[in-house]
Amino acid sequence: MDLQRVRHSTAHVMAAAVCRLFEDVKLDIGPATETGFYYDFDLPTRRLSPDDFPAIEQEMRKIITEDHPFERIEVSREEAVRLLKEQGQSFKLDRLGDIPEDEAITFYKSGVFMDLCRGPHLERTGEIKAFKLINVAGSYFRGIETNPMLQRLYGVATGSEKELRVLLQRMEEARKRDHRKLGRELDLFSAQEEVGGGLIHWHPKGARIRCLIEDFWRREHFRGGYEILYTPHIGRAHLWETSGHLEFYSENMYSPMDIDGNEYFVKPMNCPFHIMVYRSDTRSYRDLPLRWAELGTVYRYEKSGVLHGLLRVRGFTQDDAHIFCTPEQIEGEIEETVKFALRMLHSFGFEKISAYLSTRPGKAVGEEERWQQATASLERALKTCGIPFEVDQGGGAFYGPKIDLKIQDAIGREWQLGTIQFDFNLPERFNLGYVGEDGDTHQPYMVHRALLGSIERFFGILVEHYGGAFPFWLAPEQVRVLPLTEGQMDYARGVVERLKKDDFRVTLDEKSEKIGAKIRRAQQAKIPYMLVVGPKEAESQTVAVRERSTGDVGPMTVDAFAERAAGENVPE
Ligand SMILES: [Zn+2]
Ligand SMILES: [Zn+2]
Repeated sequence: MDLQRVRHSTAHVMAAAVCRLFEDVKLDIGPATETGFYYDFDLPTRRLSPDDFPAIEQEMRKIITEDHPFERIEVSREEAVRLLKEQGQSFKLDRLGDIPEDEAITFYKSGVFMDLCRGPHLERTGEIKAFKLINVAGSYFRGIETNPMLQRLYGVATGSEKELRVLLQRMEEARKRDHRKLGRELDLFSAQEEVGGGLIHWHPKGARIRCLIEDFWRREHFRGGYEILYTPHIGRAHLWETSGHLEFYSENMYSPMDIDGNEYFVKPMNCPFHIMVYRSDTRSYRDLPLRWAELGTVYRYEKSGVLHGLLRVRGFTQDDAHIFCTPEQIEGEIEETVKFALRMLHSFGFEKISAYLSTRPGKAVGEEERWQQATASLERALKTCGIPFEVDQGGGAFYGPKIDLKIQDAIGREWQLGTIQFDFNLPERFNLGYVGEDGDTHQPYMVHRALLGSIERFFGILVEHYGGAFPFWLAPEQVRVLPLTEGQMDYARGVVERLKKDDFRVTLDEKSEKIGAKIRRAQQAKIPYMLVVGPKEAESQTVAVRERSTGDVGPMTVDAFAERAAGENVPE
C-alpha cells in the first residue's frame, strides 16, 4: 500500500470534516508526513484543542463510510483563480502562484469537499483504514512570523488498526524520551525567548556531559593524527566573497556588523578560517596530509517555525575538521576518516550505522578525474568498513562527492549525523597550493568532515537514545551516597571524599528524609549508582550498592566499589 497516498488522502478527509463542523474555514496545505499528515487551517470561529479531536474523528469516519471517490479535476489557471476567489480561499490563491506556468492545475474532489492539490490520491475515501488525530499547534502561513497564524492539526495514519497501535506505542516511547522534556526534568539545557529562539544554554549537568564528550573528542583526534585549531567567530565581507558564501549562502547568514567602516559577518562555517591557516605558509608535499579539527561555533539563520529543541537551532558547535592532502594520500585518508567515524559512534553506543553516497551532479566544478578518484575512495572506504550504503546518483553538491553517515538509535529511529565531503571549489577560490616532489605547485585535495554533526544536535540525540540514563562515563552525577540516618553522616562524608580522590562525580544526600524518598529522588535523576550507608555499613566500613536499573548489587568495601566503577568509567 502506498502510505504517502493514504496519509495525504486522510488529510483531505480531515479538512473536509473540519469544514463540515466549523464555519468560514480557510485551507492552506495538508501534506503527508513520516507517520501521518497535517493540515493548516485558518479557523476564525474556533481555537482547536484535543477536546475537539473526538468530534472531528467521528466526522472523518462518517466521510470514510460514505466512500466518496477522489475525483481529479484539471482546470485552467483563470478557472482556478475564479473558483478559489468564489470560495474565499485566500491562502490557496497565494499557493496557486507557486505552481509553475507549464504545470497542470488540479483540484481533487471528494463529496462536496474540493481542494487545490497536485495529488495523487486513493481511489475512494473508504480505502482509509486507520488514523488518529494527535496534536494541534499554531503555525505561521509559509513559516514566516509576520504572516497570519494558522492552526496546524496533526494526525497519524497507517494501513491497519494493528499497525496504528504499534505506531502509537512507538510514539509514546519517543515522547517519554523527548530531549526537551528530559532536558527540563534533568536540568540539562534551556532555550529562552528572552535571549532568542534556537540559542542554547547549557546548564551545569548538560555542560558537564558536553565537557566529557569534548574531552573524549579531543583525545581521540590527537590520537588520530589531527591538530586542533581555534578560529575567530567573525570575518570581513571580503573573506565571505572569496569563499562564495555571500553569493550562495547569504540567506543562512546574519546581517553584517560595521567595524571601522568594514563589514564583518558572523561565521556560518569554519572552512574559510582553516583555509586561511593553510595559506599562512608555503606548503610542500612533505607537510601533507594536514588534518585540522575545531569545535567551531557557527550561527545560521533558521526560520523560527522550524526551530526544535536541540535538533534545529540557530547557534551550534560543529565538530568540524578539514583534511588537506595529495592525490596519492586521498584513499588512505578517507578510509581512516570512515574508521575514525565508526570508532566515535560506537563509543556512544551506536552500533547500526549506514550511509548515503552522493555523486556528481550535472553542474559541477572540478576535474572529472578528481571526481572519479574521490567518489571511488568514498565507495571503497564504505565497503572496506562493511557499512551498508545507498547511492544518491547525481545527488552530490556541485563542489564534490560526499558520504552522509546515519545511525539507528535505541528505539530504531534513524538520524543523520556525520558527513565526509570533498571540496573542489574552495581550493580553487582561495588558490590553494603545495609544492610537489616535481617542484611545481599543485592543488591539494580538501575534505570537510564532521563526525557528530553538531554538539547540540548530537547531545539531543544522545539524550533520546539513552532516555536520559547516561552511561557511567557520561553521567553528570555518577554516584550518590545516601546515609540511612544522621548517625552515618560522617562515615558517608568519608565515602564521598574517598571516591572524589579517584575523580568520580559523587555527591552526598544530606536531607533528613526516609531512605525510600532518597532512593526515589536519585532514581529520578537517573544516577547510575546509589551507595546506601546504615549503621551496619559504617561498622564494617562498607557500602550497600544500588544500581539504577538492576537494583541491589550487595555490600562491598569502598575500594572494591571504586574498582568496579573505574572499569565502567570508559566509553563503550
Ligand atoms: Zn490532495
Ligand atoms: Zn568545511
